[in-house]
Amino acid sequence: MTEPERATADATQKEASALRQKAMIGEHFRRLARAGETGHKVVYTFVPGNLTELLLAFDVLPVLPEINALQSGMRRKSAEYIAKAEKLGHSEDVCTYVKCDIGMLKSGNIGPTGERLPDPDLLLLSYTGCFTFMKWFELLREEYKKPVAMLHVPYQATGEITAEMVDYVVKQLRSDVIPALERLTGRSYDEAKLQEHLARSARAEDDLVWVLESAKHRPSPIDAYFGGVYYIGPIFTSFRGTEEALAYYQELRAEVESRLERGLGPVTPDGPFGPERYRLVVEGPPNWTSFREFWRMFADEGAVVVASSYTKVGGLYDTGFRHDPERPLESLARYCLGCYTNLSLPQRIGLLERYVRDYDADGLLVNSVKSCNSFSAGQLVILREVERRTGRPGAFIESDLVDPRYFSAANIKNRIESYLQMIEQRRHAGASS
Ligand code: SF4
Repeated sequence: MTEPERATADATQKEASALRQKAMIGEHFRRLARAGETGHKVVYTFVPGNLTELLLAFDVLPVLPEINALQSGMRRKSAEYIAKAEKLGHSEDVCTYVKCDIGMLKSGNIGPTGERLPDPDLLLLSYTGCFTFMKWFELLREEYKKPVAMLHVPYQATGEITAEMVDYVVKQLRSDVIPALERLTGRSYDEAKLQEHLARSARAEDDLVWVLESAKHRPSPIDAYFGGVYYIGPIFTSFRGTEEALAYYQELRAEVESRLERGLGPVTPDGPFGPERYRLVVEGPPNWTSFREFWRMFADEGAVVVASSYTKVGGLYDTGFRHDPERPLESLARYCLGCYTNLSLPQRIGLLERYVRDYDADGLLVNSVKSCNSFSAGQLVILREVERRTGRPGAFIESDLVDPRYFSAANIKNRIESYLQMIEQRRHAGASS
């Protein structure tokens, strides 16, 4: 096969999993739009600490407001929604996911497929490290007049998950969350059904970890940040524990295996990646309003992201955690406790240091988003400490999640180019010393 033929074949293979994911998401939003007719109950909940398998065991449909916000950002609707929320009195400092969501619901709550999202029947607040989650659902409770079931997940302040912390979360699942779902649906908790979902989750998690760790190869067959946000889509949202997610991750893994065998790099929206020149670890969420432009700034320079913290926000699996059908509620508790947003600063530093070393990266780049205190607090300390421990240079850029006013393309591009030049200079200095 010639190189252009390989590239075409690769693009086709990439499309297979991407198309499958698109179809899965489309079907989910169609089911949501029909919830009034089918009688499905709808639960709004968050990505970090989501209890998808439990929701599926009750046959309710999840809605994830952060996903709606990021999709609004990618569809360039967020500026209008944020402006609407600010007119209603939400301060410029409020997380833009929240304002985007409020603006969207005040504009008819039209989802990414153009269909109206149903109102929630329950707000399931899984509190994993971000105080904004609480304030966000207070606003939605005011708006929809619907009950909130709260799961309080203790912060990993000392860097460990103790038996007491697990018990505390399990007790709340038994005493608050499960009864709320039983009241909502009129069904009894079916542990066997939950276990079936959890078994499927663990298998999909194995495949996801394999895909993410494929970036240890040179050249990396994936981009673990810009490409990674697509790879985490099903498992971080409404599909963990489903047959569809299993099929998606099997297909994705086969595609990446094929690229790896052929020595190919990632596929970008502009086509196959050129020669790999830089390997970076990225901390912080991406910008969604200029996502492709942002990705292109890296890809054009031959910079591939080999690991990122953002792809761990809805579950940290590459440290060994898997959902466990043998210990269903304990495993849900351990999952919530282990999400990246729930990790202490020293744990985040340790994880990123490990990524720089294990993936043999040239350094750590922090994308500090204005909106998100949960990510941004301590990022300069993280950067300096990872630099000190690894001896590899870092860089700091600033943008936002979905507020285009805070994405300054020229500034960001300039900083990325300067950073890559610095890496180049160090290489030459190292080679000549
Ligand atoms: S502050 Fe960060 S973690 Fe919290 S809701 Fe906003 S984006 Fe999510």
